[in-house]
Amino acid sequence: MIPYGKQNITQTDIDAVVDVLHSDWLTQGPKVPEFEQAVAQKCQAKFAVATHNATSALHIACLALGVKSNDIVWTSPISFVASANCARYCGAHVDFIDIELTTGNISVDALAQKLAQAKQQNCLPKVVIVVHLAGLSCDMEAISKLAEIYNFKLIEDASHAIGASYKNTPVGHCQYSDICIFSFHPVKIITTAEGGLALTNQTELAKKMRRLRSHGITSTPEEMSEESHGPWYYQQVELGFNYRMTELQAALGLSQLQRLTAVIKKRNQLANYYNQAFANTALTLLTPTKTCVSAYHLYIVLLPDADPQKHKQTIVQLRAQNICAHVHYIPIHLQPYYQQLGFKQGDFPQAENYYQRAISLPLYPQLSVSEQDYIIEKVIAVL
Ligand SMILES: *Cc1c(COP(=O)(O)O)cnc(C)c1O
Repeated sequence: MIPYGKQNITQTDIDAVVDVLHSDWLTQGPKVPEFEQAVAQKCQAKFAVATHNATSALHIACLALGVKSNDIVWTSPISFVASANCARYCGAHVDFIDIELTTGNISVDALAQKLAQAKQQNCLPKVVIVVHLAGLSCDMEAISKLAEIYNFKLIEDASHAIGASYKNTPVGHCQYSDICIFSFHPVKIITTAEGGLALTNQTELAKKMRRLRSHGITSTPEEMSEESHGPWYYQQVELGFNYRMTELQAALGLSQLQRLTAVIKKRNQLANYYNQAFANTALTLLTPTKTCVSAYHLYIVLLPDADPQKHKQTIVQLRAQNICAHVHYIPIHLQPYYQQLGFKQGDFPQAENYYQRAISLPLYPQLSVSEQDYIIEKVIAVL
């Protein structure tokens, strides 16, 4: 079966991890800060806080921005559930912004309309979490203008988008957001097995996320409520978690990061090849915007009609031919957990239309030309 995504591990990656196993530090050593600095530098952001996955990074990002019980957080319905769950961990109410079908990202118009309405009803969100679907950045400049007008904080769930750029700056620079999150799960652009990272340009947010990642503990005298008892001393100043990344993960991440530019180039080449092959078919392609370079975590096409039966058949037929077509994503608001919170079919029509049409086709650096030709041939045949 040709998978929809796959990690890329070299001997250099393996050696880097083995070196750590022979070293003095398996956790809380030098590799995590080294990895953090390397990612921050690559993305032109001031601070990076690595965590054991992106979900935990999203959680501490929400907490650092002060999300608490009964606050309101908005996100995209077309994302992995973690984009919404992180706000639920803080006791916040979650709501969604409908998407645009051209990119699968949240619609800036829908956001503006929903904000105007929320203002009248006095229920504006404290935080909006935007998702750069498949690695293509949302229109951050436009969204950050709305953040200023309506006074909310912005998190980028860039789990798909390390290596992407927006208006010639790397995603992660946080010019238009408070915090940006990456995931290093094996299906993502680069991997640390499990792993995540939060970027910010704000000193206080970085400090807060660092503390929350490690039990709410600080060893920095300025953050303590009384003078240090001695060199062993630390204080727990708030309730945090153990969300730390290990040295093994950081070493793998550092090694993978060396190939980031090449990986993005390769993913774009593969995507362009698909784009050309599907240009004159009935498929709708997610259109890259002129101001962005996508990281192409996923290659998503839309079937011509929103017909759940045909959608299912197409995917089943592709799988029968060893092509592991997939769907990203089931609208979050239609998950049973979110339906229990009051969401229902019909709440976000564009997201639901998208769900009945979207298919993710295999895309990863090792995908060969012959495999890609085979996939193209079979996709056109089932259409
Ligand atoms: C993968 C993913 C996450 C969660 O990442 P983990 O590292 O597995 O916790 C969150 N949001 C989106 C959009 C993702 O694709």
